[in-house]
Amino acid sequence: MGQTCVIVGAGVVGVSAALALQTELAGQGGKVILIDKSGVAAETSQGNAGAFAFTSVEPMAHPGIVKQVPGWLLDPLGPLSIPPSYAAKLTPWLLRFWRASWQDQYRASIAAQAAFMVHCKAATERQIKDVAGEAMILRQGALHLYDTAAAFRAAKPSWDLRDEFGVDYTVLKSPEEIAEIQPGLSAEFTHAGFTPGWMSTTDPKAWVDHLFAAFLQRGGIFRQEELLAVQPEDDGVLLTLTTAPVRADHVVIAAGAWSHLMAKPLGDHLPLETERGYNTTLPPGAFDLRTSLNFGKHGFVVSPIKGGVRVGGAVELGGLDLPPNYKRADHLLTKAARFMPGLDVCNGTQWMGYRPSFPDSLPVIGRAKGDRRILYACGHGHFGLTQSAGTAELVADLVIGRDPSMDLTSFRADRF
Ligand SMILES: Cc1cc2nc3c(=O)[nH]c(=O)nc-3n(C[C@H](O)[C@H](O)[C@H](O)COP(=O)(O)OP(=O)(O)OC[C@H]3O[C@@H](n4cnc5c(N)ncnc54)[C@H](O)[C@@H]3O)c2cc1C
Repeated sequence: MGQTCVIVGAGVVGVSAALALQTELAGQGGKVILIDKSGVAAETSQGNAGAFAFTSVEPMAHPGIVKQVPGWLLDPLGPLSIPPSYAAKLTPWLLRFWRASWQDQYRASIAAQAAFMVHCKAATERQIKDVAGEAMILRQGALHLYDTAAAFRAAKPSWDLRDEFGVDYTVLKSPEEIAEIQPGLSAEFTHAGFTPGWMSTTDPKAWVDHLFAAFLQRGGIFRQEELLAVQPEDDGVLLTLTTAPVRADHVVIAAGAWSHLMAKPLGDHLPLETERGYNTTLPPGAFDLRTSLNFGKHGFVVSPIKGGVRVGGAVELGGLDLPPNYKRADHLLTKAARFMPGLDVCNGTQWMGYRPSFPDSLPVIGRAKGDRRILYACGHGHFGLTQSAGTAELVADLVIGRDPSMDLTSFRADRF
């Protein structure tokens, strides 16, 4: 009889993994059961900025960030915030984040992330082809905008990194040059880097639904249920769900910002935090957006989504339980209207999501300490969509028992 694999979490990471595994196991008489308490792409994967940001390799924790943080925290609606009621709980994570910003760990994270991004780009192209998804992909590049020559010079280390890792880009040195790629921006943006390799999806929710449809069409099974417990036993791993339990040969925990709650009873203490992000989606006609826009200093991006425009970003280290503070989304939209005169800010829909983040900005892709049959695929932070197809291929390698196609040492659960 074929193997049964249960995937917990139907976000973009879980659905991609389920599709990759179902495609492989079906031919061997096996099956994949995908479980989610809320539905398909019902959480973070539905409302993100839709970017396949393969050109981004720098971790959040970088040398010098500790000096920048106090300035950011002074502005309660600035690019980074820590709600006071959550600060004490966050301290262990912040200490690890600080350590990850030291030169040695920073360089190690970049090297691992860069190698992973190369793998993810190739895996994503394979996935797009596999599911005939090209119609949902935009290949329009991205502008990274600066308001002075000094601001551009200050960002030089991040462009040097792109040089080091072979990322193609063009430097633009006047509002006129910028306007040739994206007209209608404020002339205060005098410098920009344009990365033509930046891709995005027309709608991240529709993209996951498309992958999910392929999973079902290939014989995959979906159950909308909450996972209550994972119990390794001699003849399989027993999963207690809200209704009938399931026994599996392999389990993949891909539950985004909730994954650490499942790992803890298994003896793995994953320092997973939520970098909460906010956005507003404006309907078609809001702006003639021809590429993605990154306003890095201000901590937000503007993306073409659902034929309209999504304005979003910010990092709020606030955990899973605090209510959203939509003043953050308002603040980003006000700034966008200033930088994009002519942006119609009417009839927007606001959203908040939980980026599942480890201190070194790398995900965990690997086996649980106590049981080889249980795998983690979680903590993709700002890049869950970008890295979903790449993660799915690696998870399939591990479940099937093949050597993974890249070295996973930097992604192990026990690295912390
Ligand atoms: C504002 C914002 C913008 C972003 N922009 C981008 C971008 O442009 N590009 C990019 O690559 N990434 C982006 N991200 C990050 C990206 O959205 C996430 O990394 C990604 O969605 C994480 O996917 P996931 O599948 O791991 O988690 P999720 O999508 O959160 O899925 C986890 C699932 O697990 C389920 N679950 C949890 N607990 C249980 C349980 N006990 N039982 C059953 N099910 C359970 C949940 O219901 C949920 O559906 C952005 C994030 C934010 C917030």
